[in-house]
Amino acid sequence: MNNFWLTKKIVDFTEQEWEMLCDGCGLCCYQQFITSRGRFGSLIYTTSVACNQLDLKTQLCTNYANRFSVEKDCLKITKDNLPNLTWLPPTCAYRLIGAGKQLPKFHPLITHDKNSAKNHFKDRYKYAIHMQKVKKWEEYIISYARYVS
Ligand code: SF4
Repeated sequence: MNNFWLTKKIVDFTEQEWEMLCDGCGLCCYQQFITSRGRFGSLIYTTSVACNQLDLKTQLCTNYANRFSVEKDCLKITKDNLPNLTWLPPTCAYRLIGAGKQLPKFHPLITHDKNSAKNHFKDRYKYAIHMQKVKKWEEYIISYARYVS
């Protein structure tokens, strides 16, 4: 298990190792706007609007076992679909490892602290609100747009 992300190819990760890659930040559970495709790709905006199943304190899914049936947009990140998930946050461990990059210093596999990613992103959670409480998403944008391919 030691440093598997440094020594193994992504296709060789076991299911357990694949799951361990997730840093628990929860940022993929926040709604994002993706605008229509342009010359440089699509523009994406991050919002503070969270999935209704997300615990806004722990950033963990409160309905993990049933998440795919209760949230139609929820999907499992797999080795196969990862290249298409360009909307994942740039800090997402799956994106980084998939692109042959290093895990960030705040990743729990580096820090051995399961809350280190949550602590790193704590400012991002300040204005978190559940989707069911929101009428206009555009009022909850919290980041500048970035391009995705
Ligand atoms: S953004 Fe990536 S690392 Fe963070 S919770 Fe989602 S899948 Fe895990």
